[in-house]
Amino acid sequence: MPTFHEIPKAELHLHLGGSFPLDYLCGIASDAQREALLRNLDLIAGRVHYNEGFQVFGVIGQIVNTDEKVEKGTRALCEALQKDGVVYAEIRTGLKDLGGGPEGYLRAVLKGVQGAASESFHVRLLLSLQRASSLSQARNTVDLALKYRDEGIVGIDLSGDSTIGQVEMIIPELKRAKEAGLFLTVHMGESAKEVGQRQILEELSPHRIGHGVHLTEEAVDWIIENRIPIEVCPTSSVLVRMVDQYRDHPGLRYHSMGHPIVICTDDPLIFQNTLTGELAALSEAEALTSEELHQIARNAIHHAFLTDDEKQFFLERFFQID
Ligand SMILES: [Zn+2]
Repeated sequence: MPTFHEIPKAELHLHLGGSFPLDYLCGIASDAQREALLRNLDLIAGRVHYNEGFQVFGVIGQIVNTDEKVEKGTRALCEALQKDGVVYAEIRTGLKDLGGGPEGYLRAVLKGVQGAASESFHVRLLLSLQRASSLSQARNTVDLALKYRDEGIVGIDLSGDSTIGQVEMIIPELKRAKEAGLFLTVHMGESAKEVGQRQILEELSPHRIGHGVHLTEEAVDWIIENRIPIEVCPTSSVLVRMVDQYRDHPGLRYHSMGHPIVICTDDPLIFQNTLTGELAALSEAEALTSEELHQIARNAIHHAFLTDDEKQFFLERFFQID
């Protein structure tokens, strides 16, 4: 059996802001910024609580503070993914204004992706909306996603601290995105304090769920009944104390019931992981067998935000399935 590094992989849950390669950031950071970054990464490696994990994003934001640095960092990330054997990646990012407005930022990300794309490496983008976004932020994000959909934007991701924010405000914009043909994925079950899960599911009918750790019974029922794939991010869930150990991730239980899951990294910088590493960690923890992990990795492309024709292309090109 080939190693997890050797097999072609699809990464479906990865945030740009938490995924710039460490050596890229260290190369452009001041001494103080580098120290702060490494201190935060050490803290997270020792396991933190869900809310504490967000502080590192402030440090990264100070380092990657221009559109040009975003473009170069995006390209560096794509190169790192290729080295890990990723052939298809969905990168998600919230829009920022680093001087060129949200559209300038988006163009920088697109340029970074396009600079790294090749026959053997393909990327699509999802635009992230924080749950606490204002209606105008949500509208702007959906407008830009639609404007640039021909350049590889395929969906919207609902993320951010799930214990704050009034998601009801932006639901109409998420619905508009979906009706226009964009895919939706929703972070859900990151915190046990989350409320309104079933309502969000019923209103949005998302195409995938991120994490799915602390789900209410009625949310689980809906997700299983509608066969909504769950993006399981094992190391992330362990390090922010969503679960105690790899084998406790409830996604694995859903998998054993025949429910579709994909294995993802969430934030390779923040959790110092790779997709290969995630598969290996689950195998070492005996959370899943090697055969199951290979099968999950092979199946991931079926749950990508691609058209059927595109999926067929990837299956034939990389996964030798016809
Ligand atoms: Zn995430």
